[in-house]
Amino acid sequence: MESIWKRNVTMPEFPAVKRDMKVDVLIIGGGMAGLLCGCFLKEKGAKYAIVEKNRIAGGVTENTTAKITAYQPGLYTRLVKDFGMETAKAYLLTNTAAVCRYGDMAQNIDCDFQERAHYIYTMCHKADLLEEISVIEKIGGRAEYTEHVGIPTAPECAMKASGQAQFYPLRFAAEIADGQTVYENSFAGDIRKERYGYQVSVKDSEGKAFRINADKVIVATHFPYLDRWGMYFLRMYQERSYVLALEAEQGQTPPLGGMYNGWGYEEDNPLNLSFRSWENCLLLGGGGGRTGKKNPSFDALRKQAAVLFPDYHEVAAWAAQDCMTLDGLPYIGEYARGRDGLLVATGFRKWGMTGAMTAAMALTGELDKELTEKFKPQRTIFRKQLFINGFESAINMIRPTAPRCTHLGCALRWNREEKTWDCGCHGSRFTKDGSVIDGPAQNNLKA
Ligand SMILES: Cc1cc2nc3c(=O)[nH]c(=O)nc-3n(C[C@H](O)[C@H](O)[C@H](O)COP(=O)(O)OP(=O)(O)OC[C@H]3O[C@@H](n4cnc5c(N)ncnc54)[C@H](O)[C@@H]3O)c2cc1C
Repeated sequence: MESIWKRNVTMPEFPAVKRDMKVDVLIIGGGMAGLLCGCFLKEKGAKYAIVEKNRIAGGVTENTTAKITAYQPGLYTRLVKDFGMETAKAYLLTNTAAVCRYGDMAQNIDCDFQERAHYIYTMCHKADLLEEISVIEKIGGRAEYTEHVGIPTAPECAMKASGQAQFYPLRFAAEIADGQTVYENSFAGDIRKERYGYQVSVKDSEGKAFRINADKVIVATHFPYLDRWGMYFLRMYQERSYVLALEAEQGQTPPLGGMYNGWGYEEDNPLNLSFRSWENCLLLGGGGGRTGKKNPSFDALRKQAAVLFPDYHEVAAWAAQDCMTLDGLPYIGEYARGRDGLLVATGFRKWGMTGAMTAAMALTGELDKELTEKFKPQRTIFRKQLFINGFESAINMIRPTAPRCTHLGCALRWNREEKTWDCGCHGSRFTKDGSVIDGPAQNNLKA
């Protein structure tokens, strides 16, 4: 169940932390968000370090489908309704800047970067799609209506945004990591506020502890693991997504004119299928849902693949999950009120390629503060999703099953298809033997 990106790439290796240290900026987490922050800090000549508990880019980043786009299903209509034009414009401007930054960087990086149109298709929401196009035009973006979609699910129509891109995420990550100050197998634990900056306790794989002092700390651990501040456990949940890599017979290339995402879970598209190509493979995504719930998953996706692409055979299958926020915007900025210099980049809602780039540009001062203010985590939390998250947590806290999650003690569910114990509250996952796979839990299940 490994992603296709793990083939044909050699990731650089880094040593573990072996001494106490003082840096200007400590980045915790070596996924796309952490590595990009490091890359820009390096360019600025800052004294920084990245600590990664396993290997770099081995988290969600190695399981992405790597579409780089500033457009998402129904996003701008929702943003205008919930926050107003200024926030929607800020999202468009920052994410468009992120797409362009990838393009600039990819000129010097061998990562199969290909400019592609991004199609967002619908089976039955034409009026909503037209509204989205009109909102995009009003805030200065560019998307066009088309009925020539070019995928075999026969959608009614689509919105086409040109000038977006796709790439090979691990090749990109490997190249930007090369030459950076990174410590792998270095697990960051407690973060203490000091008079000047923060002190982070970091353990190597043998459990030896070291202290790293930093003026600033960027938490780029996917789900922020520190519960003392910020209450991210109330403000986020996780959704799993499933991907199949299908290879065309006789070396043909998949006949896709771009990258494709569905409008959402529609009756005629219950798996909300996504499509992109990579060499002679077609990456088919879908079948996801909240972690810890019964999702359609691989079985349903494979059945769809057999109908839609009978001449293709499966060469890889993988699944991963991403953090979903309460209101559709990521959390980028100060970790919690009063925690000056403790920063966070999370909540990318399955759009963390542009999200990670936006976060890295924002946190290293490359974007206008007035625009990135909109992503600050200390915005109102009184959203419908907060109550859904609270309800899920309450139910799972009182459910009398064992084992229980090492994060906040919620009951875990056995995920038969993936053979894991999953937490429906916050999305932590464990192997059958109890080793932690996905946070926010940081510790293994007790034997
Ligand atoms: C199936 C799927 C498809 C997707 N497709 C797309 C797409 O097409 N386009 C798009 O824009 N986005 C997509 N996304 C979303 C995107 O891949 C993610 O948002 C992004 O990779 C997240 O990057 P990250 O750096 O935040 O997290 P990660 O890559 O998970 O990195 C976090 C790192 O922190 C480390 N860490 C955790 N805790 C600690 C600790 N205590 N100490 C030290 N290190 C720690 C982890 O080991 C990990 O390496 C997709 C997501 C999924 C699941």
